[in-house]
Amino acid sequence: MLLIHCPHCGPRDEGEFTCGGESHIQRPALSASAEDWAEYLFLRHNPAGVTYERWRHTFGCERWFNVARCTVSHRIEAVYAMTEAKPDIA
Ligand SMILES: [Zn+2]
Repeated sequence: MLLIHCPHCGPRDEGEFTCGGESHIQRPALSASAEDWAEYLFLRHNPAGVTYERWRHTFGCERWFNVARCTVSHRIEAVYAMTEAKPDIA
């Protein structure tokens, strides 16, 4: 069970949240190739290490934010606003 620190409500149980998948995905231009569109729509990174995800506090403030989480240890490395840049976590 994860304890997620909502930037608006503080630490809450994982059950109050919904994971929205990978964050920081750039939509390609309309003129992009079919391969670029396929990558945008269907392919996601699945690293053994830090991944950047969107989470929503569904049963709380209902706001979205970003989480940097290690997929190996499930440790949450950072929580930051949707408008903030991706933190550099080594
Ligand atoms: Zn919240």
